[in-house]
Amino acid sequence: MISDFKNKEVWLAIGSQKLYGKETLDKVDHNAKQIAEALNDSNSISIVYKSVVTTTEEITALIKKINYEDDCIGLIVWMHTFSPGKMWLNGLKLLQKPLLHLHTQFNEKIPWSKIDMDFMNLNQSAHGGREFGHACARAKVQRKVVVGYWKDKAILKSIDQWSRVALAYADSQEMRIARFGDNMREVSVTEGDKVSAQLQFGYRVDGYGMGDLVAYIDQVTSAEITDLIRVYDEVYRIEESLKSENNFSLIEAARIELGMRAFLIDGGFSAFTTTFEDLTGLRQLPGIAVQHLMATGYGFGAEGDWKTAALVRSMKVMSMGQSGGSSFMEDYTYHFDEMGSKVLGAHMLEICPTVSHGFRTIECHPLGIGGKENPVRIVFDIAPGDAINASIVSTGDSFKLLVNPVTVELPEKPMPNLPVARGLWMPHPDLNTAARLWIEEGGSHHTCFSQNVTVSMLQDFAMMMDIPCSVIG
Ligand code: MN
Repeated sequence: MISDFKNKEVWLAIGSQKLYGKETLDKVDHNAKQIAEALNDSNSISIVYKSVVTTTEEITALIKKINYEDDCIGLIVWMHTFSPGKMWLNGLKLLQKPLLHLHTQFNEKIPWSKIDMDFMNLNQSAHGGREFGHACARAKVQRKVVVGYWKDKAILKSIDQWSRVALAYADSQEMRIARFGDNMREVSVTEGDKVSAQLQFGYRVDGYGMGDLVAYIDQVTSAEITDLIRVYDEVYRIEESLKSENNFSLIEAARIELGMRAFLIDGGFSAFTTTFEDLTGLRQLPGIAVQHLMATGYGFGAEGDWKTAALVRSMKVMSMGQSGGSSFMEDYTYHFDEMGSKVLGAHMLEICPTVSHGFRTIECHPLGIGGKENPVRIVFDIAPGDAINASIVSTGDSFKLLVNPVTVELPEKPMPNLPVARGLWMPHPDLNTAARLWIEEGGSHHTCFSQNVTVSMLQDFAMMMDIPCSVIG
């Protein structure tokens, strides 16, 4: 379901003015096409060059079009020459999509022996970009400013990352989140104002009784279950006891996944929550069902945590096609050590296999809570390397984003009695500081863990969503 974005585009507009005459503007247009090509070649989203804009009317008309064009997810502007800022004010006031100001210059080096005033007029982004920046600041427009030579790989990469975040922003405006049951009772951090969330993030959060889901689960056929178990067998390693004829648990787990997936597809949902305190009609807590749905692009939050479900989905959109993964996560238990204290992250069952390393085994074990039959889950270690934990925190009727980079290590020793997916990490700058700051900020015990979304991407995301972002470490 992450592949529905093929038609999405980022538009590129070039700012100039009529003062320099047609010949200069033709050159601007010619150069713009080359930059658009370079940007497009290195970007995950199509970059479509629109036009050189030289009047208030042209700029305002373009921005109106951007707002109403569903496939346009954002605007990149570059001031090739000088574009008087007042021309932009009426348009900027209307802009409802993410904006990136590319502050670059077509020409790389000064042609010392040949430089004249024609060259100067054509290559004056240095002050043209500043004039545009002032207009944006005055109009209080949230935007990312990227500065550097346009062929520079680091510049192209930061434009690609911003485009990915703009895609997640667009996805969030259309996101529907299904809550199977309500919150885990008595828990505070998973609560929040869903009306404020819809105004801030665009996504809609709606609750459903378990009976609505069970109706879908009841319609699942044996043939569908056989097919899904075949997929499980191809992708994961099924433990021997579940392969026997006595595999009712696996059949039931597959039935739950198929019912959930059908429900989510029917309602156009891209994220969901469950709670072990409301499993009426289910024979086991959804474990592999949630894990496998997350692996195919769905956002998820346990115990009714819709804010986390939404951010997991957004992370999956931002990082589509990249190696590594993103998952729902929880700081579970500590390993205090003078050589560097660590966190063991896990959950009762629901960690996404896209973050795994090595064997991923489908197992079935008792679960002390939920009061149901033994649930089936995928067990694995999380891959070592750099990652981040992030959390959207409700501050009443507004929100903030907390981010903490971590370094994941493989466990020092095997943990044969721990039947869940797990990862061991060192938070930055160290556990004591990171946990203290996280707690002081009121951060959630649930997080969104990602190996391929960067701190700067989440800073861009917070800027687009117009919420504050605190980075710990
Ligand atoms: Mn939890």
